[in-house]
Amino acid sequence: MNTTTNAFQMAQKQFDQVAEMLNLDSQVREYLRWPMREFSFRIPIRMDNGDIKIFNGFRVQHNDAIGPCKGGIRFHPSETIDTVRALATWMTWKCAVANIPLGGGKGGVIVDSATLTNAEKEHLCRGYIQKIWQELGPRRDVPAPDVGTTPQMMGWMMDEYSKLSGEYTPGVITGKPVDSGGSLGRTEATGFGVIIAIREAMKKMKIDPSKCSTSLQGFGNVAQYAAIGFKTILKGNIKAVSYWDRNDRLGYTVSHSKGIDPIFLQSITDQYGTINKKKAESTGYAIEEATKWLCKDVDVLIPAAIEGQINAETVGMISDKVRIIAEGANGPTTMEADEQLKKRGMFIIPDFLCNAGGVTVSYFESVQNDMNYYWPRDEVLQRLDKKMTVAFKSVYDMFEKENVFMRDAAYMVAISRVVKAMQLRGWI
Ligand code: NAD
Repeated sequence: MNTTTNAFQMAQKQFDQVAEMLNLDSQVREYLRWPMREFSFRIPIRMDNGDIKIFNGFRVQHNDAIGPCKGGIRFHPSETIDTVRALATWMTWKCAVANIPLGGGKGGVIVDSATLTNAEKEHLCRGYIQKIWQELGPRRDVPAPDVGTTPQMMGWMMDEYSKLSGEYTPGVITGKPVDSGGSLGRTEATGFGVIIAIREAMKKMKIDPSKCSTSLQGFGNVAQYAAIGFKTILKGNIKAVSYWDRNDRLGYTVSHSKGIDPIFLQSITDQYGTINKKKAESTGYAIEEATKWLCKDVDVLIPAAIEGQINAETVGMISDKVRIIAEGANGPTTMEADEQLKKRGMFIIPDFLCNAGGVTVSYFESVQNDMNYYWPRDEVLQRLDKKMTVAFKSVYDMFEKENVFMRDAAYMVAISRVVKAMQLRGWI
């Protein structure tokens, strides 16, 4: 999101468009345009040098008609209440479209995690929970990791909540380390979910995946497993991946004349998704400039890095050969670019459907925590496959029935489900 775009205004605009298409009652619209609850709080932390520092934290609960709120906690230096509101709103639609019994929430702290020592991070995580724990819980609101937060941090937060509530409560937070109540399969869930969505789209479009190629933006968690899935599950060819080089502070596109081996590339990539350029070059990979990933003659584009990458300036670079854009990242396409893609008749798998594999396995994690019984990895991934397949079908059916853009179809499914739950609970 660039600095001139207010994410919450964008979330409201997207909602307004579909509310109009659904002819929603004006008061129902007014309720859903805003979060139902918001919390702002200040967290004093004793730093390693003995000083006290105050951090600002937020938790926003957009809607819990379908079930307890669900959504990550971001530690980011430019966090604002509006970004948290937008992300909480999008979580409501994501959970609804994935048909998991959860609502939308999000949290944040204004901080750059990289400036904190390990001990300071732990104090801040525990401090965050001390301020908000009474509003959280497996039946109220279940956070998870997001930008700037890690599984270890979720472990500290779960421990703090358990101490304050007086009982071991692993289901209060997901994305925990596997040895501390986390779920097997969570690491690969989002990327594999992207592949299941592409597989289902190809079935509908009568495309043979093994004859297809792809190009991805990003080589972090989502892109790595999407690339591995594209090659091993769909048997397709990966022509290029693009990444942000943390050392050079520049983006690059990596390709190979025989196609990319994602497992090899993963072995030369650091935890932040920066590929070792020298090792790539010495093993026959070509390095080009950042935007090249978008211009490749491929069947499928998978933006899986950051938001706003397919925009008014870049949308024209997309080859006519591209048949599917599968949005692994959140918000990779701007509203201006969407208009162009609509005109071109491009088939989009919209972000909150395409990357719903992550929240689906987070939901499985809290289910396993509640049962205190854990499934093997294969079982988690089979259940993920079923959920993603059904979610894709419900959006595709709406797309066909209403003859609308896939993003609008996904919004229509999500908003209708939330409105129905509110009606059935007697709220409206
Ligand atoms: P990550 O931090 O693991 O990886 C991000 C990757 O993007 C890195 O390879 C980085 O080099 C690359 N990148 C950053 N800026 C770039 C640029 N300008 N050009 C090219 N590459 C660039 O992040 P992730 O967890 O893989 O998340 C990626 C996206 O997917 C985000 O939008 C995130 O919100 C979304 N998402 C992630 C999950 C999840 O489970 N991880 C779930 C749902 C949505």
